Amino acid sequence: MAGPTELDEVPLDSHPVSNGLDDGSKGGYTKTESSTEIQFMDPNNKDSNHRLTHVVTAQPMNQSLNQPIDMNQRPMDINQRPMYMPRRKNFLQKNCRYCVSACKWLPVVFILSVLCWGHYAFNFQLVGNTLEAPVFLKVLFSLLFHFWFVMCLWSYYQTIFTESQQPPREFWLTIDEVERINSCSTEEQRVHCYQEIVDSRRLPVEARTYSGGFRTCEKCNLIKPDRAHHCSVCDACVLKMDHHCPWVNNCVSFTNYKFFVLFLGYSFGLCIYSAGSSFPFFLKFWKNDLGNSYSKLHILFLFFVSIMFAVSLASLFFYHIYLTLKNRSTLESFRTPIFRYGPDKKAYDLGKKRNWTEIFGDSMLMAFIPLPNQ
Ligand SMILES: [Zn+2]
Ligand SMILES: [Zn+2]
Repeated sequence: MAGPTELDEVPLDSHPVSNGLDDGSKGGYTKTESSTEIQFMDPNNKDSNHRLTHVVTAQPMNQSLNQPIDMNQRPMDINQRPMYMPRRKNFLQKNCRYCVSACKWLPVVFILSVLCWGHYAFNFQLVGNTLEAPVFLKVLFSLLFHFWFVMCLWSYYQTIFTESQQPPREFWLTIDEVERINSCSTEEQRVHCYQEIVDSRRLPVEARTYSGGFRTCEKCNLIKPDRAHHCSVCDACVLKMDHHCPWVNNCVSFTNYKFFVLFLGYSFGLCIYSAGSSFPFFLKFWKNDLGNSYSKLHILFLFFVSIMFAVSLASLFFYHIYLTLKNRSTLESFRTPIFRYGPDKKAYDLGKKRNWTEIFGDSMLMAFIPLPNQ
């Protein structure tokens, strides 16, 4: 399916719309013949004109919906209205907030501890104490290790600390609208209410529920944009949510998916490199050729830990490369998105090349650097 082409020609300020977030960033959406896209200012690059583009729908739509949206002529002055109801907090959130927050960081502390120990075992015990080679070779071994190590830590940091993006302001219900919807006595009336809101704001929502209604979040009081889901751990709706990953204590989603895939790739590379380097010493261990008993314990563990992580990382990494090439999130691969015409697993597929650039950008160099695409 051909991808939209008009997107790059739309100047950033042609339809400026507040996205409802406190960071002052702007967003908007553009409809083309074959797709609907939401555009956001890159949260990591607020001063530039750089936009992240998120394909929401790649399906033909009604002729009436194909017109470009003029945000200045929308019938509702959204800035004048309260946007959402206060949310209730459950017992845990109210009373054990700090304990729960601290516990959520334990997997991250575990990963960082393993990385730090791996650094010590490789550089000090393997290269420093055990490897019998000229100094330049030792330095080369260590430098190669540090390449994988630094890239792994960098992409890990970016995955953890890149905030996920909540739906733009237009998708949030006002207090009046929530009250109106709650007063509906039948499901038909509720669907009609939502339809009126979607029509009046011209929201680009194509995905539907199993019963054919709009996808809504009663916790956030909003109409979910396509591909957005509510994360119960983050307690928020997140754009293009892939899954919530406890190992990064963050949602893997629209804003940090590239960093997450890079983290998987670089940590897989680090494991393979460490396992390959320690393998000859692992063989020596069984022949009783390794002298220093303290070092050989570290080298043995380094080999086993590297192999163990490499196996689990390989399956995850190659699975996410496959999903990237299909423009499919983990959630969508398990639960096929539903549209007015029925379920469609390939709804967002724009072809392998375009799917790749959606995540990794046009530049081959930038694709491997854990920074936002230019
Ligand atoms: Zn929500
Ligand atoms: Zn989450």
